[in-house]
Amino acid sequence: MDKPQQILIVGQGLAGTLLSYQFLTHNIEHKVVDNHHANSSTLAAAGLVNPITGRRYVKSWMIDELLDFAKPIYRGLERLLDIKLVTHLEVIRSLQNVSQENLWNTATSRPGYNEYASDNDSAGSYTGFVNQRFAYRRIKQALQVNVSELIKAYRLFLQEKDMLIDDDFNFSFKPKMNEFSLYNSRFSHIVFCEGYKAVENPFFNYLPFQPSKGESFELEIHGLIPMEILRDEIFLVPMGENRIWSGGGYAWKYDDDFPSEKFSAEWTKKLDDLLMAEYRINTHRAGVRPSVKGRRPLLGKHPLYERLIIFNGLGTKGTSLGPYFANHLYEYLFEDGQLLNEVNIQRFDVK
Ligand SMILES: Cc1cc2nc3c(=O)[nH]c(=O)nc-3n(C[C@H](O)[C@H](O)[C@H](O)COP(=O)(O)OP(=O)(O)OC[C@H]3O[C@@H](n4cnc5c(N)ncnc54)[C@H](O)[C@@H]3O)c2cc1C
Repeated sequence: MDKPQQILIVGQGLAGTLLSYQFLTHNIEHKVVDNHHANSSTLAAAGLVNPITGRRYVKSWMIDELLDFAKPIYRGLERLLDIKLVTHLEVIRSLQNVSQENLWNTATSRPGYNEYASDNDSAGSYTGFVNQRFAYRRIKQALQVNVSELIKAYRLFLQEKDMLIDDDFNFSFKPKMNEFSLYNSRFSHIVFCEGYKAVENPFFNYLPFQPSKGESFELEIHGLIPMEILRDEIFLVPMGENRIWSGGGYAWKYDDDFPSEKFSAEWTKKLDDLLMAEYRINTHRAGVRPSVKGRRPLLGKHPLYERLIIFNGLGTKGTSLGPYFANHLYEYLFEDGQLLNEVNIQRFDVK
């Protein structure tokens, strides 16, 4: 693509923020429209990058490349915004029985796992605060990125630079135009980064979104300063000092994206099962993840209107996928790069 006039990014969650940062570092003129994070998945997230995931203990897709990319990008954002975003942590993985232990041992003895898995068998700083499990192992090179602070601070940065449009984007424009006159400016392209709200985007809602609602608590456990992430039946993630994030849940049917009583009751029970110490819940948040059938991001130009572009589908792993694929989209748009087939929206037919 020739150097464009100006680009409009719709949505300033993690995807829109990381793409805007790519544009900023490459001097691509742009503005960002966001409805003040009204429908934000990012605000509910722990910002965890966990290299070994799931019940089969497998390495996350492309984790080596994603980590190499994520670290310098978040460091750059820390410098730009003058805030601390990244904490390097280990994950303590609880194993509930001998078959889980065998599965872990087999999975992590494969080539390429050495740098991420370790045999350390203790609950670390959680010892005495949680019920003892059958065994523990450790996952190395995890990150916790304070993604909610990131998008709040980046919003202020955009405001100061007069690059933020505080609005609900309206789709009543003509997609065939060579430029779009919106918000008293002219834009040559629009990149949609609206998270799960893409299901209401008339140009891209043919893509197989499968949004899933999740919720989270921020809590304190009496006497505990957590030093690691604990992955038991549920996650406990240190958020600085004695603050702990715990959350998850996958609701495929939901009435709204607000915190629910149902989650509250279920998660409190899970916390009661895990914790021996007293705890206090300070905050309850909810968000809908932009999950996609096939669990790969969605990048590319609209098949009919090539000035309309999408960067979405970060699903459950925006913190690790976001930095790499924001750069991938930038290179595709401006450096003649090719999109990976696995993320290119051309893999789906337009309806
Ligand atoms: C409980 C929970 C825990 C999670 N934990 C993790 C984790 O530990 N690690 C991880 O990597 N991921 C996690 N995730 C997933 C993570 O939140 C997502 O991958 C990522 O944040 C998605 O970012 P996004 O920018 O695509 O979407 P969003 O964060 O939803 O951002 C979209 C933005 O667009 C705005 N918007 C939408 N429509 C419009 C419109 N028409 N006009 C203007 N603005 C609009 C929204 O208000 C919002 O600000 C979690 C999610 C949840 C719900």
